[in-house]
Amino acid sequence: MKNIDNRFEFQGLKGLDVDTLFKDISTPFFALDEAQIEYDGNILLSVQQKTGCKILLAQKAFSNYDLYPLMEKFVAGTEASGLYEARLGKEEMPSKEVHVFCAAYKEDEFDELLKYADHIVFNTINQFHKYARKAKEHNKSVGLRINPECSTQVGHEMYDPCTPGSRLGVPLKNFIEGMSEEDLQILDGLHFHTLCQQNSDDLEKTLVAVEEKFGKYLSFLKWINFGGGHHITREDYDVDRLIRCINYIQDKYNVEVYLEPGEACVLNAGYLVTRVLDTFKNGDKNIALVDCSAACHMPDVLECHFLPPLLNANLDNEGIRYKLGGPTCLSGDNIGEYIFKEELKENEILVFGDCALYTTCKTNTFNGMPLPNIYILHKDKSLEKLTDFNYFDFKYRLGKTK
Ligand SMILES: *Cc1c(COP(=O)(O)O)cnc(C)c1O
Repeated sequence: MKNIDNRFEFQGLKGLDVDTLFKDISTPFFALDEAQIEYDGNILLSVQQKTGCKILLAQKAFSNYDLYPLMEKFVAGTEASGLYEARLGKEEMPSKEVHVFCAAYKEDEFDELLKYADHIVFNTINQFHKYARKAKEHNKSVGLRINPECSTQVGHEMYDPCTPGSRLGVPLKNFIEGMSEEDLQILDGLHFHTLCQQNSDDLEKTLVAVEEKFGKYLSFLKWINFGGGHHITREDYDVDRLIRCINYIQDKYNVEVYLEPGEACVLNAGYLVTRVLDTFKNGDKNIALVDCSAACHMPDVLECHFLPPLLNANLDNEGIRYKLGGPTCLSGDNIGEYIFKEELKENEILVFGDCALYTTCKTNTFNGMPLPNIYILHKDKSLEKLTDFNYFDFKYRLGKTK
């Protein structure tokens, strides 16, 4: 039996022998950890109970709807990036609120969107003028995404909507020039989303900018949505400061506060389980080829240099360093370098942590790679298979179904 290390990322596997647990399952596969989703959910629930704010699941990070019956105990609803996610939220968490933000809505989709969404947030003044009145006629709550022009994530431009020339959110100048008295009368709320994996000190800084620029409008509104990017369930996150921020805004402006984290809802709540296919040396470098791919199964590893935690590896600097890579033909299909106590062997099981977010909803079949099946690891440690992916998941997205 392997030692399960004591890192926070693997607390859901504590006391388990992963070699036995996973031995009969064909790799690669995702295991979504019900106990950890509950752990994360309870933190979100306590923030809502202590403040009266509402927290939504941002589905773009995680949309494994088989878990929605569990998650709906902890969230007030779902947040969608567009039509399909809005429909999914409505279908799979029907008793809860559906919110949608999209940079630009399509005319031929908007009527259908009205069937699903409760809150509709617009990204530009033009979009507001084009759709807001119609949305109001259908009893929707309408909001505008603002750009507080307050960068708190220097060197992280890919995830910073406050960079100069950003296409996301209305800057104050455009707001003042574009919003008439009548427009302001139908506006229900403001939305900002400027954070990514950040702590509540950065939220506090952002709120100073939001208040300075848009404070005078806030008292006339019903709600403000703080967006996502709050790493609320991370071990070192300052939850008390978040609570102070929410209470301060609610009390001062008499508005309802929404948050819509994606990552925080399922932080550390999934594993990508893979097997070693081969090992060899190239010069001094030890290389291990595994049956999962960064490009196909963990695209954020390549897009934003995420190094997923690996069970029983990378704990100290003693041992054997391996570069782990996938089986595809892409030279850069590397997951990262890890240190192991012993040499890796063919067929050995490796378990990556924190693989519930931005993974199952971002997989692809590049290189004809199979999609990893998705399981739930239930609280009683039994595994339930949700999917049965095969060749046709690859084929049918490319052409005629015969
Ligand atoms: C991405 C996104 C979220 C969720 O962000 P996380 O970093 O996963 O918490 C929420 N709202 C909007 C508008 C987003 O674009």
